[in-house]
Amino acid sequence: MENWLKKQTQLNPNKTALILEHSDFTFSELDESVQLYASKLATYGVKSHDRIAIFITNSFNGYIAILALQQLGAEIVFLNTRLSKDELGFQLRDSNAKFCLLDDGADLSEITQTSFPQVKISETLSLHSAKSYQPVEEFNNDDITSIMYTSGTSGRPKGVLQTFGNHFYSAIGTSLNLGISYRDSWIIAVPLFHISGFSIAMRSLIYGIGVYLIPKFDEAYINKILINERASIISLVPTMLKRLLNNLTPKQKYNSNFRCVLLGGGPIDNWTLLRCNMLAIPVIQSYGMTETASNVVALTNRDAERKVGSSGQALFPVQLRITQQNNDGIGEIEVKAPNVAKSYLNMPELFKQRMTSDQYFKTGDIGYLDDEGFLFVKGRKDDMIISGGENIYPEEVENLYSKIKGILGITILGKRDETWGQIPIAYVILDENAYLTGVDLLEYGRDHMAHYKVPKEFRQVDHFPQTSSGKILRRKMHGMVYKLL
Ligand code: ATP
Ligand code: MG
Repeated sequence: MENWLKKQTQLNPNKTALILEHSDFTFSELDESVQLYASKLATYGVKSHDRIAIFITNSFNGYIAILALQQLGAEIVFLNTRLSKDELGFQLRDSNAKFCLLDDGADLSEITQTSFPQVKISETLSLHSAKSYQPVEEFNNDDITSIMYTSGTSGRPKGVLQTFGNHFYSAIGTSLNLGISYRDSWIIAVPLFHISGFSIAMRSLIYGIGVYLIPKFDEAYINKILINERASIISLVPTMLKRLLNNLTPKQKYNSNFRCVLLGGGPIDNWTLLRCNMLAIPVIQSYGMTETASNVVALTNRDAERKVGSSGQALFPVQLRITQQNNDGIGEIEVKAPNVAKSYLNMPELFKQRMTSDQYFKTGDIGYLDDEGFLFVKGRKDDMIISGGENIYPEEVENLYSKIKGILGITILGKRDETWGQIPIAYVILDENAYLTGVDLLEYGRDHMAHYKVPKEFRQVDHFPQTSSGKILRRKMHGMVYKLL
């Protein structure tokens, strides 16, 4: 395919491409800034297939730098700015990048305690010298454009090699589902270094639509845009959606061009969905992962009520199947799609182990498909507890307990047991005013679920260990200090 930015500059030169708080850029203005910056980066010797790391927030400089690296044909290694020093050090070494581009204010020597060549984007921008270069002519389906690390929920983060083809088919799947029009514009409130954010930048180039770049998640500011401007779509994770709703007053309504919230990253509770319904905010739930370059499954608003708990149907380019089904019909979710990534960086063998001989990717998640092909995700395969031969899905038990007033958080884990193999136990965070005993919680469980699913121990903690993207790190829970309820 022809270079997407160049193509869009030809097709829609005067259409808005990027909207910041105090300025807008058309596609041709964006292209001008990007090409200028690419010519400055070229003085650093960046060339096709070079691996360059980037450590940015959702800043204008960061946006331009990403697109400039793409014009130079570099493989962009996205670093998550919320990682710990050790994690960042690992990703920098693992990626073997030539150097790292940074936003102002960030300093890798402080962050990683390892010496790594680093370049501030603002310094390169103010360079007087520039080098003539040829922007990449074609974005080939097979060429890697981004390397993105998984969240590290189940172990050490894996660098995912994402190609232009992956991003293209991901964008096409989403557009066939949502139906994109020239009036659409998308808010990037999720991080650009995560697939949820970067995929919006790619959609902007592929669809020719504008994006609002939100530097930092600020619910009042985002609601202002959703109310007063023409923004039509916003991608969010569940906690962000809740923050927007809590900030909205009953009389406030999103603008008439607003179409939907695209929700991803994890399951959403019914109460939040109900609130959205009452406020006429359509929510499209979705399921996907870094390895599938964004969503592969989505649930439209019209099916939300009759398919409560589902993540939806496979998008057009995506095939889904469930394998190794247990007697309850639940098994591993496998995905075949042109947006499944090429491999893991430095771990091709691990990736091969996760691909079946007929090219399905084993997600490591478990769930089931109903008779209409709607997917219900039940959690991760490794989190499932087998107690006396019965399968227990922690998220199902957690959802039931989350309804109790006074429980701020609950995580169910398996504990080794001589008789049953494993028994479920619970880690709970209680509201400081709640008075709930272990017996209360045990009785509640027995009233609401099969007895083998009821946690046999309730351990009170004050926090849950989390990944930088807010996912609970179950594997770190057993070492925590707790009080038995
Ligand atoms: P790692 O692969 O390093 O353990 P991770 O899987 O959390 O980390 P991501 O690629 O960011 O890294 O997240 C994808 C995962 O998030 C999915 O495999 C799934 O477990 C979970 N997930 C995504 N969407 C949903 C959803 N709608 N419902 C339930 N779980 C979801
Ligand atoms: Mg994963």
